[in-house]
Amino acid sequence: AKEGGRNRLQFYEAAMHSRISERALIEAELRHALARDELSLHYQPKLDLRTGAVIGMEALLRWQHPAMGMVSPARFIGVAEETGLIVEIGRWVLRSACFQNVAWQQAGLTPLRVAVNVSARQFRDPGLSAEVQAALSDSGLDARYLELELTESLVMHNVEGAVAVVKGLKQMGIALSIDDFGTGYSSLAYLKLFPVDYLKIDQSFVREMLAEPKVAAIVRSVIALGQSLGFRVIAEGVESAPQLAYLRHHLCDEMQGYLFSKPLPPDDFGALLREERSL
Ligand code: C2E
Ligand code: CA
Ligand code: CA
Ligand code: CA
Repeated sequence: AKEGGRNRLQFYEAAMHSRISERALIEAELRHALARDELSLHYQPKLDLRTGAVIGMEALLRWQHPAMGMVSPARFIGVAEETGLIVEIGRWVLRSACFQNVAWQQAGLTPLRVAVNVSARQFRDPGLSAEVQAALSDSGLDARYLELELTESLVMHNVEGAVAVVKGLKQMGIALSIDDFGTGYSSLAYLKLFPVDYLKIDQSFVREMLAEPKVAAIVRSVIALGQSLGFRVIAEGVESAPQLAYLRHHLCDEMQGYLFSKPLPPDDFGALLREERSL
């Protein structure tokens, strides 16, 4: 293993001094990341804005590379998508999140729902629902404690096909949300065809809403329209107390953001739950 480590460092240094692109490097290294146990999940709390309590968490992938350090998802999720590696990685994410959630429940913590991000490639994979089913039965997690986050562009790409997949997932009893809402081109007419539970207002809107009246208007209408169509609305990327106050005032249902907590390694997340911290 030590020998392997040295070879990898040499490879990495060679890459940095040659024309091997960052992308090629990421791709080559990502192929081994799972087997080398370099991937992990961090968990970010989701809170109910009415009660202030933690009501769930989003699993977010982390890659700790021995030479590159912590590689952010922004640098490798796209590569994982293009190469198809995301299917295997995504399966691992789904299973780890389910097993971790069962471990917290067995440790006596209040059962919460864990949300897992699903990429376009995974969503189009006909094996997805079987994998979800397997992750649930192998881990013993009750379906109601699992949520899948699907991005807006993903479900709007092929509405008819996507509606069928979403309905199938919904029938399994899991929760579903539409992520990054507002960044794509959804028509509300299509939105009502999807039996999803949540709309997640993209963090770019939350970041700008207090400085830009038009962005604030968008946020208010997503909350009102989303709720009138029967969705719960969650705002992500909440970083400040004034943002929180604004969202509460306009009756947004839930929030997620650094103001309360960054994504945490499992042990830290467990500790946060034990402290019963709330907003
Ligand atoms: P996302 O699904 O929109 O996740 C939210 C991102 O916002 C996360 O970045 C999170 O750490 C960050 N965030 C949360 N609160 C705040 C805040 O208050 N301020 C700011 N500035 N950022 C905040 P992260 O973990 O770097 O992930 C980036 C993206 O990578 C995710 O965006 C998601 O699209 C993708 N991703 C992460 N994990 C997975 C995964 O397991 N599977 C797939 N397919 N994609 C993933
Ligand atoms: Ca997400
Ligand atoms: Ca998002
Ligand atoms: Ca995003």
